[in-house]
Amino acid sequence: MALVVRGAIKDYDWGIIDGLATWSGEITGGPQAELWFGVHPGGPSPLLDPGGAETGEHLGDRFDIEAIPLLVKLLAAAKPLSVQIHPDADTARAGWAAQQAPGAPRPYNDPFEKTEMLVALSDFQALAGWRDTDQAIAILSGVDGCQAMIDALRAGDLAQAIRHGLQASTSPAIAQIPGACAAAGLSDDQCQAYALITREYPNDAGALITVLLQYVHLLPGQAIYVPAGIPHSYICGTGLEVMTSSDNVLRLGLTGKSVFVDQAIAALGPHQPQIIDAQLGDILWPVNAPFVVRVLPQGLEKLPAGAYRIVLSIQGSATVRTDFADIGLKPGTAAVMSAQDADAWVDADGLVAVVQATSPAR
Ligand SMILES: [Zn+2]
Repeated sequence: MALVVRGAIKDYDWGIIDGLATWSGEITGGPQAELWFGVHPGGPSPLLDPGGAETGEHLGDRFDIEAIPLLVKLLAAAKPLSVQIHPDADTARAGWAAQQAPGAPRPYNDPFEKTEMLVALSDFQALAGWRDTDQAIAILSGVDGCQAMIDALRAGDLAQAIRHGLQASTSPAIAQIPGACAAAGLSDDQCQAYALITREYPNDAGALITVLLQYVHLLPGQAIYVPAGIPHSYICGTGLEVMTSSDNVLRLGLTGKSVFVDQAIAALGPHQPQIIDAQLGDILWPVNAPFVVRVLPQGLEKLPAGAYRIVLSIQGSATVRTDFADIGLKPGTAAVMSAQDADAWVDADGLVAVVQATSPAR
């Protein structure tokens, strides 16, 4: 039997003012950054009764992470999120175990991998994966104090480039980044993204790390798949995020939260992100991804039993049809089905996100 939930809101300071009000149902006058749909203890989703009222229970009261292996978020970013790296399964398990020692630093929020995909619902700008080395060197050549960073890049030592970048991110150097981007021939929207970064974080040790990262500009319906181990920072825009159910974020900078440089560098993997040129309605199933996602404008889609499924209404209306009942969803509410629940169908009239867990090996 499907359960219906609403999202648990996060008011991080990078959120858009009332940016999720359409889905949260709340006008707060403050930043609204993320709505979480899942069982992660950092933001378990409240259960709703058939009338749409909260029952007082959370999804996590009924199911554990084995049954609900994915976390789905709506995200609204007015300014850049931290430069971050997520751990793979082995790194998370080992890191979580290591931090149980008395007095150890505690960078991990759980023992699980965080692999994620962001689907743009508006124009969305991000930095993800490594920028072409020659281009990064061309930009850094226009910023004072970056020679050690450039030398590390020429030697192919990205970890060392990060360490030097954290040291070289002085206020005068950070202020030179947008001009250096223009001088290196970057596009106007890219230069404006760096102007936003340096305006919001004029004294942040992580600012120069952003120069090392590849710029990505997504249109609605396009997506970026970011497996564990890839450095990234989402800059601005509204999107749907689907991930393994983890909140493990190892930060390098652009944040008021703690940074864990050694742990973040240790979590770096060999991959680049997959940028998916798609339109709303296309099936998004990156190679090896533990989920398949479709943001459906309208029509009928089958949700076969045997895997975790969640249907999140984004715009208009959606109806989830099961053998037991028809469930109407309004924007910001979601129907959740465990692998054991029977086949279901979703009938979309507006925009609805359909997310299904998959086996990663294929
Ligand atoms: Zn991330």
